[in-house]
Amino acid sequence: MRILVTGAAGFLGSHLCDRLLTDGHEVIGMDNFITGSPDNIAHLADNESFSFYKRDVSNYIFVPGKVDAILHFASPASPNPQSKAGYFNLPIQTMKAGALGTHNCLGIARRESSRFLLASTSEIYGDPEIHPQSESYPGNVDPIGERAVYDEAKRFAESLTMAYHRFHGVNTSIVRIFNTYGPRMDLEDGRALPNLLKQALLGQPLTVYGDGSQTRSFCFVDDLIDGIVRLLYSEEHFPVNIGNPIEMSILQFAEAINKIVGNKAGIVFEENSRSVRDPQRRQPDITRAREILGWEPKIDLEEGIRRTVPFFKQKLGLA
Ligand code: UDP
Repeated sequence: MRILVTGAAGFLGSHLCDRLLTDGHEVIGMDNFITGSPDNIAHLADNESFSFYKRDVSNYIFVPGKVDAILHFASPASPNPQSKAGYFNLPIQTMKAGALGTHNCLGIARRESSRFLLASTSEIYGDPEIHPQSESYPGNVDPIGERAVYDEAKRFAESLTMAYHRFHGVNTSIVRIFNTYGPRMDLEDGRALPNLLKQALLGQPLTVYGDGSQTRSFCFVDDLIDGIVRLLYSEEHFPVNIGNPIEMSILQFAEAINKIVGNKAGIVFEENSRSVRDPQRRQPDITRAREILGWEPKIDLEEGIRRTVPFFKQKLGLA
């Protein structure tokens, strides 16, 4: 296939390009580098099956030639208010990438009769009132809350995707991505794994926000990409959760990182650092992914962290 990936220079987008190229496809990457980095795709520069356009997907986009599939991954995604690359500090761009960007991609998919895959998110569930979250749960999002610029943009993107499917018959799919980690994460984006792993490797105490009782379920990037690619190759149109169902508190997560890395500096609690509406619990119900895609994660936290450490060490000048 000839496949367009928006957000190709991002953490997930770049891994997706690698996997699609490995599967023998021709890949067209697109990114405006607002949060992604040229470093993430530098290794593809000489790959004849890869081409790249520096574009903002929220403006009109044109891709010459046939496009068999489009994966729309372009968006800021970090919820951390301190991060320059987070959606708190890029609120309008975030809404435009989810709304106008999705519209532009769906326009190409309609014209080209492409398979379309939307990168959605567990954030569409907001601060969930049911646990774990299955795809049938409609979510708990405050439309004017501080996280809403991302959550509502993705919710709108899902609605638009289903409208193109139902009204225009476009071959669409939606993946709801839960917390993911691995090499090529932005060390400065303020999320839990980059912050905590960086601190652990530098021998510093790990900053746990609040009392650390809030939970997340962390998936290693290779597992996640495998789930996404299976969804792309399937004929499914309704949303599918992809993430690791092993839930743990952020405190347990921090303790595990310290143990794996051998950091003796312990943990400090930052009572007031949790963002407004930081979800208290999050865990994917992956029944649909298991049934429809035959997918479940294979890489445990210890193995995933070990595979992530060399990238972090290199970025920190410790390698
Ligand atoms: N968190 C933390 N310490 C940090 C960074 C994040 O305790 O240095 C917490 C944060 O408050 C949240 C969880 O870790 O409860 C996951 O945050 P992240 O920013 O990774 O993304 P989210 O899952 O909220 O989208």
